Amino acid sequence: MPARTAYPLQLPGLTATDDIDTVINWGLGADSSAYLARMLTDPAGHGIDLDRTAVLYMATGSEWPETRLLAEEFILPLLREHGVRFVQLARNGHLAADGITVLDDSRHAERLHTRGAWTLWEEMETVGTVPQQAGTRKCSLRAKGDVGDRWILAVMGGRPFRQIIGFNADEAGRCLKDQANSKLAGRTGEFPLVDWGWGRKECEGYLLERFNVHWPKSYCTFCCFPISMGSLPAHMERMRAHPGIAGEVLRLEYTAMSLNPNAKLYGKKSLLELFDPTQERDQACLEAFQRELDMPWALYRVRRLFLLSADGGHRPVMRSTERIGLGRPAQLAHKLTAVSQRFGIAVERDHQYGRARAWLRPRRPAWPMAEELFATAPARVIDKKDKNFEQHWDALVSGPAAQLPFV
Ligand code: SF4
Repeated sequence: MPARTAYPLQLPGLTATDDIDTVINWGLGADSSAYLARMLTDPAGHGIDLDRTAVLYMATGSEWPETRLLAEEFILPLLREHGVRFVQLARNGHLAADGITVLDDSRHAERLHTRGAWTLWEEMETVGTVPQQAGTRKCSLRAKGDVGDRWILAVMGGRPFRQIIGFNADEAGRCLKDQANSKLAGRTGEFPLVDWGWGRKECEGYLLERFNVHWPKSYCTFCCFPISMGSLPAHMERMRAHPGIAGEVLRLEYTAMSLNPNAKLYGKKSLLELFDPTQERDQACLEAFQRELDMPWALYRVRRLFLLSADGGHRPVMRSTERIGLGRPAQLAHKLTAVSQRFGIAVERDHQYGRARAWLRPRRPAWPMAEELFATAPARVIDKKDKNFEQHWDALVSGPAAQLPFV
Protein backbone atom coordinates (compact mmCIF):
# COMPACT_ATOMS: atom_id res chain seq x y z
CA MET A 1 0.00 0.00 0.00
CA PRO A 2 1.48 3.39 -0.93
CA ALA A 3 2.26 5.80 1.87
CA ARG A 4 -0.64 7.87 3.21
CA THR A 5 -0.30 11.54 2.52
CA ALA A 6 -1.86 14.17 4.70
CA TYR A 7 -3.34 17.24 3.04
CA PRO A 8 -1.83 19.53 1.86
CA LEU A 9 0.19 17.25 -0.36
CA GLN A 10 3.90 17.42 0.14
CA LEU A 11 5.50 14.74 -1.95
CA PRO A 12 8.91 14.79 -3.56
CA GLY A 13 8.49 15.84 -7.18
CA LEU A 14 5.00 17.20 -6.62
CA THR A 15 5.12 20.94 -6.32
CA ALA A 16 3.22 23.92 -7.58
CA THR A 17 6.11 24.54 -10.00
CA ASP A 18 5.21 21.36 -11.92
CA ASP A 19 4.89 22.19 -15.63
CA ILE A 20 1.60 20.39 -16.15
CA ASP A 21 -1.08 22.61 -17.70
CA THR A 22 -3.58 19.98 -18.87
CA VAL A 23 -5.38 17.39 -16.78
CA ILE A 24 -7.48 14.65 -18.34
CA ASN A 25 -9.96 12.89 -16.08
CA TRP A 26 -10.23 9.20 -16.85
CA GLY A 27 -13.13 7.41 -15.17
CA LEU A 28 -12.37 4.06 -16.93
CA GLY A 29 -15.75 4.09 -18.73
CA ALA A 30 -16.48 4.08 -22.45
CA ASP A 31 -16.60 7.86 -22.83
CA SER A 32 -13.27 8.91 -21.37
CA SER A 33 -11.59 5.71 -22.65
CA ALA A 34 -12.77 6.47 -26.20
CA TYR A 35 -11.48 10.02 -25.87
CA LEU A 36 -8.05 8.85 -24.70
CA ALA A 37 -7.77 6.17 -27.37
CA ARG A 38 -8.69 8.56 -30.18
CA MET A 39 -6.73 11.53 -28.86
CA LEU A 40 -3.59 9.38 -28.62
CA THR A 41 -3.74 8.62 -32.33
CA ASP A 42 -2.72 12.24 -32.86
CA PRO A 43 -2.17 14.15 -29.60
CA ALA A 44 -0.89 17.35 -31.23
CA GLY A 45 -3.75 17.31 -33.73
CA HIS A 46 -6.13 17.23 -30.77
CA GLY A 47 -4.33 20.12 -29.07
CA ILE A 48 -2.56 17.99 -26.45
CA ASP A 49 1.09 18.40 -25.48
CA LEU A 50 1.75 15.12 -23.68
CA ASP A 51 4.79 16.54 -21.87
CA ARG A 52 2.50 19.00 -20.10
CA THR A 53 -0.43 16.65 -19.54
CA ALA A 54 -1.44 14.32 -16.73
CA VAL A 55 -4.21 11.72 -16.87
CA LEU A 56 -5.97 11.47 -13.50
CA TYR A 57 -7.80 8.45 -12.16
CA MET A 58 -9.49 8.35 -8.76
CA ALA A 59 -9.93 4.86 -7.27
CA THR A 60 -13.24 4.34 -5.44
CA GLY A 61 -12.51 0.76 -4.38
CA SER A 62 -15.59 -0.82 -5.98
CA GLU A 63 -15.11 -0.76 -9.74
CA TRP A 64 -16.43 -3.74 -11.70
CA PRO A 65 -13.67 -6.27 -12.48
CA GLU A 66 -14.21 -6.31 -16.24
CA THR A 67 -13.92 -2.52 -16.52
CA ARG A 68 -10.63 -2.71 -14.67
CA LEU A 69 -9.36 -5.51 -16.89
CA LEU A 70 -10.27 -3.68 -20.09
CA ALA A 71 -8.58 -0.53 -18.85
CA GLU A 72 -5.42 -2.50 -18.10
CA GLU A 73 -5.52 -4.44 -21.33
CA PHE A 74 -6.20 -1.63 -23.77
CA ILE A 75 -5.67 1.84 -22.30
CA LEU A 76 -2.65 1.40 -20.04
CA PRO A 77 -0.52 0.07 -22.94
CA LEU A 78 -1.48 3.16 -24.94
CA LEU A 79 -0.51 5.45 -22.08
CA ARG A 80 2.82 3.64 -21.74
CA GLU A 81 3.48 3.69 -25.47
CA HIS A 82 3.03 7.46 -25.56
CA GLY A 83 4.79 8.05 -22.22
CA VAL A 84 1.69 9.70 -20.77
CA ARG A 85 1.92 10.74 -17.14
CA PHE A 86 -0.73 8.71 -15.33
CA VAL A 87 -1.61 9.68 -11.77
CA GLN A 88 -3.70 7.34 -9.62
CA LEU A 89 -5.25 8.80 -6.50
CA ALA A 90 -7.43 7.77 -3.58
CA ARG A 91 -8.94 9.36 -0.53
CA ASN A 92 -7.29 8.47 2.79
CA GLY A 93 -10.20 8.59 5.19
CA HIS A 94 -13.58 9.86 6.21
CA LEU A 95 -12.33 13.31 7.16
CA ALA A 96 -10.97 15.90 4.73
CA ALA A 97 -8.01 16.26 7.09
CA ASP A 98 -7.04 12.63 6.41
CA GLY A 99 -5.75 13.74 3.01
CA ILE A 100 -5.24 11.74 -0.16
CA THR A 101 -2.76 9.17 -1.38
CA VAL A 102 -0.93 9.16 -4.69
CA LEU A 103 -1.21 5.45 -5.46
CA ASP A 104 1.00 5.78 -8.51
CA ASP A 105 2.43 8.60 -10.63
CA SER A 106 4.25 7.27 -13.63
CA ARG A 107 4.76 7.49 -17.41
CA HIS A 108 4.90 3.69 -17.65
CA ALA A 109 2.11 2.47 -15.35
CA GLU A 110 1.78 -1.31 -15.45
CA ARG A 111 -1.33 -1.70 -13.35
CA LEU A 112 -4.42 0.01 -12.16
CA HIS A 113 -4.70 0.51 -8.42
CA THR A 114 -8.23 -0.28 -7.43
CA ARG A 115 -8.37 1.17 -3.94
CA GLY A 116 -6.62 3.23 -1.32
CA ALA A 117 -6.77 3.07 2.47
CA TRP A 118 -10.38 4.33 2.50
CA THR A 119 -13.23 3.13 0.32
CA LEU A 120 -16.71 4.44 -0.29
CA TRP A 121 -18.05 0.97 0.42
CA GLU A 122 -16.58 0.88 3.93
CA GLU A 123 -17.87 4.36 4.62
CA MET A 124 -21.39 3.37 3.52
CA GLU A 125 -21.46 0.07 5.35
CA THR A 126 -20.05 1.29 8.64
CA VAL A 127 -22.77 3.94 8.88
CA GLY A 128 -25.44 1.57 7.52
CA THR A 129 -26.45 3.48 4.43
CA VAL A 130 -26.41 3.36 0.61
CA PRO A 131 -25.62 6.10 -1.94
CA GLN A 132 -28.24 8.82 -2.04
CA GLN A 133 -30.30 8.89 -5.20
CA ALA A 134 -31.70 12.37 -4.80
CA GLY A 135 -29.70 15.58 -5.07
CA THR A 136 -25.95 15.95 -5.61
CA ARG A 137 -23.87 12.82 -6.06
CA LYS A 138 -22.10 13.41 -2.76
CA CYS A 139 -20.40 10.01 -2.93
CA SER A 140 -18.84 10.89 -6.26
CA LEU A 141 -17.59 14.20 -4.93
CA ARG A 142 -16.05 12.52 -1.89
CA ALA A 143 -14.44 9.60 -3.69
CA LYS A 144 -13.46 11.32 -6.93
CA GLY A 145 -14.09 15.06 -7.37
CA ASP A 146 -12.54 16.23 -4.09
CA VAL A 147 -9.61 13.86 -4.46
CA GLY A 148 -8.70 15.08 -7.95
CA ASP A 149 -9.19 18.70 -6.91
CA ARG A 150 -6.72 18.30 -4.06
CA TRP A 151 -4.04 16.95 -6.35
CA ILE A 152 -4.70 19.67 -8.90
CA LEU A 153 -4.57 22.35 -6.22
CA ALA A 154 -1.22 21.06 -5.01
CA VAL A 155 0.24 20.83 -8.53
CA MET A 156 -1.27 23.91 -10.16
CA GLY A 157 -1.15 26.22 -7.18
CA GLY A 158 -3.67 28.54 -8.89
CA ARG A 159 -1.90 28.60 -12.30
CA PRO A 160 -4.17 28.52 -15.37
CA PHE A 161 -4.85 24.99 -16.58
CA ARG A 162 -7.48 23.12 -18.52
CA GLN A 163 -9.31 20.05 -17.33
CA ILE A 164 -10.59 17.68 -19.97
CA ILE A 165 -13.70 15.78 -18.93
CA GLY A 166 -15.26 12.94 -20.90
CA PHE A 167 -18.89 14.05 -20.78
CA ASN A 168 -20.39 12.75 -23.99
CA ALA A 169 -22.61 14.64 -26.44
CA ASP A 170 -25.78 13.08 -24.92
CA GLU A 171 -25.07 14.79 -21.62
CA ALA A 172 -24.16 18.29 -22.70
CA GLY A 173 -26.17 19.67 -19.75
CA ARG A 174 -23.51 18.33 -17.41
CA CYS A 175 -20.95 20.63 -19.05
CA LEU A 176 -22.89 23.70 -17.95
CA LYS A 177 -23.17 22.38 -14.39
CA ASP A 178 -19.47 21.56 -14.38
CA GLN A 179 -18.57 25.12 -15.41
CA ALA A 180 -20.87 26.56 -12.77
CA ASN A 181 -19.72 24.25 -9.95
CA SER A 182 -15.96 24.22 -10.37
CA LYS A 183 -14.23 26.20 -7.66
CA LEU A 184 -10.65 25.56 -8.77
CA ALA A 185 -8.76 28.77 -9.50
CA GLY A 186 -7.34 29.03 -13.02
CA ARG A 187 -9.42 26.15 -14.37
CA THR A 188 -11.03 25.93 -17.80
CA GLY A 189 -13.18 22.87 -18.43
CA GLU A 190 -13.09 21.27 -21.89
CA PHE A 191 -15.46 18.64 -23.23
CA PRO A 192 -14.03 17.26 -26.48
CA LEU A 193 -16.60 14.47 -26.90
CA VAL A 194 -19.33 17.10 -26.99
CA ASP A 195 -17.29 19.07 -29.56
CA TRP A 196 -16.90 15.90 -31.65
CA GLY A 197 -20.62 15.18 -31.36
CA TRP A 198 -19.82 11.77 -29.85
CA GLY A 199 -22.61 10.37 -27.71
CA ARG A 200 -22.43 7.09 -25.82
CA LYS A 201 -23.16 5.12 -29.00
CA GLU A 202 -20.26 6.66 -30.91
CA CYS A 203 -17.85 6.10 -27.99
CA GLU A 204 -18.85 2.46 -27.62
CA GLY A 205 -18.72 2.01 -31.41
CA TYR A 206 -15.21 3.46 -31.58
CA LEU A 207 -13.93 1.16 -28.82
CA LEU A 208 -15.63 -1.83 -30.43
CA GLU A 209 -14.03 -1.13 -33.78
CA ARG A 210 -10.65 -0.30 -32.31
CA PHE A 211 -10.31 -3.06 -29.70
CA ASN A 212 -13.06 -5.47 -30.69
CA VAL A 213 -14.69 -5.33 -27.24
CA HIS A 214 -17.94 -4.01 -25.89
CA TRP A 215 -16.85 -1.47 -23.27
CA PRO A 216 -19.18 -1.61 -20.24
CA LYS A 217 -20.19 1.32 -18.08
CA SER A 218 -17.85 2.24 -15.27
CA TYR A 219 -19.43 2.69 -11.84
CA CYS A 220 -19.28 1.31 -8.31
CA THR A 221 -20.89 -2.11 -7.93
CA PHE A 222 -23.34 -0.66 -5.38
CA CYS A 223 -24.16 2.51 -7.32
CA CYS A 224 -27.82 3.52 -7.39
CA PHE A 225 -27.63 5.25 -10.77
CA PRO A 226 -28.00 2.31 -13.19
CA ILE A 227 -31.74 2.55 -12.61
CA SER A 228 -31.94 6.23 -13.58
CA MET A 229 -29.53 5.73 -16.50
CA GLY A 230 -31.97 3.22 -18.00
CA SER A 231 -29.41 0.46 -17.76
CA LEU A 232 -30.99 -1.69 -15.10
CA PRO A 233 -31.33 -4.83 -17.28
CA ALA A 234 -27.61 -4.67 -18.17
CA HIS A 235 -26.80 -3.98 -14.54
CA MET A 236 -28.73 -7.06 -13.40
CA GLU A 237 -26.94 -9.19 -15.98
CA ARG A 238 -23.67 -7.89 -14.62
CA MET A 239 -24.75 -8.85 -11.11
CA ARG A 240 -25.66 -12.34 -12.33
CA ALA A 241 -22.23 -12.67 -13.93
CA HIS A 242 -20.67 -11.83 -10.53
CA PRO A 243 -22.77 -13.58 -7.87
CA GLY A 244 -20.14 -12.89 -5.20
CA ILE A 245 -20.38 -9.14 -5.82
CA ALA A 246 -24.18 -9.37 -5.93
CA GLY A 247 -24.14 -11.09 -2.52
CA GLU A 248 -22.00 -8.34 -1.01
CA VAL A 249 -24.13 -5.55 -2.46
CA LEU A 250 -27.28 -7.28 -1.20
CA ARG A 251 -25.70 -7.40 2.27
CA LEU A 252 -24.88 -3.68 2.10
CA GLU A 253 -28.47 -2.88 1.17
CA TYR A 254 -30.00 -5.30 3.67
CA THR A 255 -27.96 -3.81 6.50
CA ALA A 256 -28.98 -0.27 5.51
CA MET A 257 -32.64 -1.26 5.14
CA SER A 258 -32.61 -2.93 8.56
CA LEU A 259 -31.84 0.42 10.13
CA ASN A 260 -33.98 2.38 7.68
CA PRO A 261 -36.61 0.61 5.54
CA ASN A 262 -36.41 3.49 3.04
CA ALA A 263 -32.74 2.83 2.28
CA LYS A 264 -33.46 0.84 -0.88
CA LEU A 265 -30.64 0.98 -3.38
CA TYR A 266 -32.84 2.23 -6.19
CA GLY A 267 -35.21 4.57 -4.39
CA LYS A 268 -38.58 2.83 -4.68
CA LYS A 269 -37.04 -0.55 -5.50
CA SER A 270 -34.55 -2.63 -3.62
CA LEU A 271 -31.92 -4.76 -5.32
CA LEU A 272 -33.24 -7.75 -3.38
CA GLU A 273 -36.71 -7.49 -4.90
CA LEU A 274 -35.20 -7.44 -8.41
CA PHE A 275 -33.96 -10.99 -7.93
CA ASP A 276 -36.57 -13.69 -8.39
CA PRO A 277 -35.90 -16.70 -6.16
CA THR A 278 -37.96 -18.92 -8.49
CA GLN A 279 -35.62 -18.18 -11.41
CA GLU A 280 -32.57 -20.37 -11.73
CA ARG A 281 -30.51 -17.49 -13.13
CA ASP A 282 -30.96 -15.53 -9.86
CA GLN A 283 -30.26 -18.32 -7.44
CA ALA A 284 -26.46 -18.02 -7.34
CA CYS A 285 -26.76 -14.34 -6.32
CA LEU A 286 -29.29 -15.10 -3.59
CA GLU A 287 -27.19 -17.97 -2.30
CA ALA A 288 -24.17 -15.68 -2.21
CA PHE A 289 -26.29 -13.21 -0.22
CA GLN A 290 -27.18 -15.95 2.29
CA ARG A 291 -23.48 -16.69 2.71
CA GLU A 292 -22.75 -13.00 3.24
CA LEU A 293 -25.26 -12.94 6.09
CA ASP A 294 -23.48 -15.80 7.85
CA MET A 295 -21.53 -13.56 10.17
CA PRO A 296 -21.96 -11.95 13.62
CA TRP A 297 -25.06 -9.79 13.85
CA ALA A 298 -25.92 -6.99 16.21
CA LEU A 299 -29.00 -5.50 17.82
CA TYR A 300 -29.07 -1.76 17.14
CA ARG A 301 -30.97 1.11 18.67
CA VAL A 302 -31.55 3.75 16.02
CA ARG A 303 -32.98 7.19 16.64
CA ARG A 304 -33.65 9.86 14.05
CA LEU A 305 -34.66 13.47 14.40
CA PHE A 306 -36.52 15.29 11.66
CA LEU A 307 -36.22 18.91 12.70
CA LEU A 308 -37.32 22.23 11.24
CA SER A 309 -35.06 25.21 10.70
CA ALA A 310 -35.96 28.71 11.88
CA ASP A 311 -37.70 29.47 8.55
CA GLY A 312 -39.78 26.28 8.76
CA GLY A 313 -37.76 24.28 6.21
CA HIS A 314 -36.55 20.73 6.74
CA ARG A 315 -33.14 20.39 8.35
CA PRO A 316 -30.88 17.46 7.44
CA VAL A 317 -32.03 14.38 9.36
CA MET A 318 -29.98 13.73 12.52
CA ARG A 319 -29.21 10.19 13.58
CA SER A 320 -27.88 8.19 16.48
CA THR A 321 -26.97 4.51 16.04
CA GLU A 322 -25.94 2.40 19.02
CA ARG A 323 -25.00 -1.24 19.11
CA ILE A 324 -26.85 -2.88 22.01
CA GLY A 325 -25.56 -6.44 21.71
CA LEU A 326 -23.88 -9.00 19.47
CA GLY A 327 -24.99 -12.53 18.57
CA ARG A 328 -26.47 -14.79 15.93
CA PRO A 329 -29.53 -13.44 14.07
CA ALA A 330 -32.01 -15.95 15.58
CA GLN A 331 -30.75 -15.35 19.11
CA LEU A 332 -30.99 -11.55 18.78
CA ALA A 333 -34.42 -11.75 17.14
CA HIS A 334 -35.63 -13.95 20.02
CA LYS A 335 -34.35 -11.44 22.57
CA LEU A 336 -35.96 -8.51 20.76
CA THR A 337 -39.26 -10.36 20.45
CA ALA A 338 -39.33 -11.43 24.10
CA VAL A 339 -38.70 -7.91 25.39
CA SER A 340 -41.05 -6.28 22.88
CA GLN A 341 -43.90 -8.58 23.86
CA ARG A 342 -43.58 -7.51 27.48
CA PHE A 343 -44.16 -3.93 26.38
CA GLY A 344 -46.86 -4.72 23.82
CA ILE A 345 -44.71 -3.67 20.87
CA ALA A 346 -45.08 -5.57 17.59
CA VAL A 347 -41.98 -7.06 15.99
CA GLU A 348 -41.49 -7.26 12.22
CA ARG A 349 -39.66 -10.47 11.30
CA ASP A 350 -37.97 -11.42 8.07
CA HIS A 351 -37.83 -15.17 8.56
CA GLN A 352 -36.01 -15.74 5.31
CA TYR A 353 -32.96 -13.59 5.94
CA GLY A 354 -33.10 -13.10 9.69
CA ARG A 355 -33.97 -9.47 10.44
CA ALA A 356 -36.16 -8.46 13.38
CA ARG A 357 -37.32 -4.90 13.94
CA ALA A 358 -39.45 -3.15 16.58
CA TRP A 359 -40.62 0.45 16.42
CA LEU A 360 -40.69 2.26 19.70
CA ARG A 361 -41.52 5.54 18.03
CA PRO A 362 -42.69 5.04 14.45
CA ARG A 363 -42.07 7.77 11.91
CA ARG A 364 -44.96 10.19 11.55
CA PRO A 365 -45.88 12.13 8.41
CA ALA A 366 -45.37 15.61 9.86
CA TRP A 367 -42.12 17.32 10.87
CA PRO A 368 -40.75 17.91 13.46
CA MET A 369 -40.68 14.35 14.71
CA ALA A 370 -38.57 11.76 16.43
CA GLU A 371 -38.21 8.15 15.34
CA GLU A 372 -36.86 5.29 17.40
CA LEU A 373 -36.45 1.64 16.52
CA PHE A 374 -34.56 -1.46 17.49
CA ALA A 375 -33.34 -3.70 14.69
CA THR A 376 -31.06 -6.63 14.11
CA ALA A 377 -28.57 -6.49 11.25
CA PRO A 378 -25.13 -7.77 10.21
CA ALA A 379 -22.69 -6.29 12.72
CA ARG A 380 -20.96 -3.99 10.25
CA VAL A 381 -22.38 -0.72 11.52
CA ILE A 382 -20.46 1.27 14.10
CA ASP A 383 -21.85 3.52 16.84
CA LYS A 384 -22.33 7.02 15.53
CA LYS A 385 -24.18 10.04 16.83
CA ASP A 386 -24.60 13.43 15.22
CA LYS A 387 -23.29 16.42 17.15
CA ASN A 388 -25.76 17.80 19.72
CA PHE A 389 -28.10 14.89 19.02
CA GLU A 390 -29.03 14.25 22.67
CA GLN A 391 -29.72 17.92 23.29
CA HIS A 392 -32.16 18.06 20.34
CA TRP A 393 -33.65 14.71 21.26
CA ASP A 394 -34.36 15.80 24.82
CA ALA A 395 -35.90 19.03 23.56
CA LEU A 396 -38.29 17.21 21.21
CA VAL A 397 -39.05 13.99 23.03
CA SER A 398 -41.00 14.86 26.13
CA GLY A 399 -42.41 12.43 28.65
CA PRO A 400 -40.84 9.22 29.90
CA ALA A 401 -37.89 9.26 27.52
CA ALA A 402 -36.03 6.90 29.83
CA GLN A 403 -38.52 4.09 29.08
CA LEU A 404 -36.23 2.17 26.82
CA PRO A 405 -37.19 -1.45 27.30
CA PHE A 406 -34.37 -3.00 25.29
CA VAL A 407 -31.42 -1.28 26.89
S1 SF4 B 1 -20.24 5.39 -9.30
FE1 SF4 B 1 -22.12 5.77 -8.16
S2 SF4 B 1 -21.66 5.10 -6.05
FE2 SF4 B 1 -19.70 5.31 -7.12
S3 SF4 B 1 -19.07 7.39 -6.63
FE3 SF4 B 1 -20.15 7.50 -8.59
S4 SF4 B 1 -22.26 8.02 -8.04
FE4 SF4 B 1 -21.25 7.28 -6.17
